[in-house]
Amino acid sequence: MFVTFEGGEGAGKSTQIRLLADALRTRGHDVIITREPGGSPGAEALRHVLLSGAAEDFGVRMEAMLFAAARADHLDCVIRPALMAGQIVLCDRFVDSSRVYQGVTGNLEPALMAALERVSIGPSMPDLTLILDLPADVGLARARRRAGGAPETEAPDRFEKENIDIHEKRRQGFLDIAAREPGRCRIIDASLDVDRIARDILAEVLLVMAQ
Ligand code: C5P
Repeated sequence: MFVTFEGGEGAGKSTQIRLLADALRTRGHDVIITREPGGSPGAEALRHVLLSGAAEDFGVRMEAMLFAAARADHLDCVIRPALMAGQIVLCDRFVDSSRVYQGVTGNLEPALMAALERVSIGPSMPDLTLILDLPADVGLARARRRAGGAPETEAPDRFEKENIDIHEKRRQGFLDIAAREPGRCRIIDASLDVDRIARDILAEVLLVMAQ
């Protein structure tokens, strides 16, 4: 089973992925956690470029192609082999992040977005996508606290520094995807407390597993 987590900055994706992995492992499932951009050695190298200041001058077409290239490698090297081996794959961001970051707020032509999806993903769409939804200002405040807090956390990347309107547009972009693809996507209220969100997520996953 292939489960992806999507949402804006500070939505709590990484915490919830860890909690879901623990809950599924307790039930005897074999689970791997991975992330985008990255997840395979080649894609992690592209992540380093994409999230650094060096990428600030990239055009959005180039950026979208690099995200797609990283995704194709991640699928080939990590996600498909794990699914073939019967593992549950939990992935922090996937194609919906590209649809929103490069498509909606990057204004990339829909035809190019569709072509990139076709070549990078093919039929390997997630079985379930959990969209962790919360107001952009709340998420940004959380992301900033995180960046200023524990020294081991990653510093804010170039996307996290953008203004609130862009983050609100992205939130709406994720909600629009969920409305278009209700079979695959579930909206999770990420403003609730951590344990409640974890329970909501586990319930959705168990429902899909039972189908
Ligand atoms: O999930 P995380 O915050 O680590 O993601 C790294 C960054 O890459 C995010 O700030 C996100 O905005 C950006 N990103 C993107 N397009 C994608 C995937 C991620 O701009 N397709």
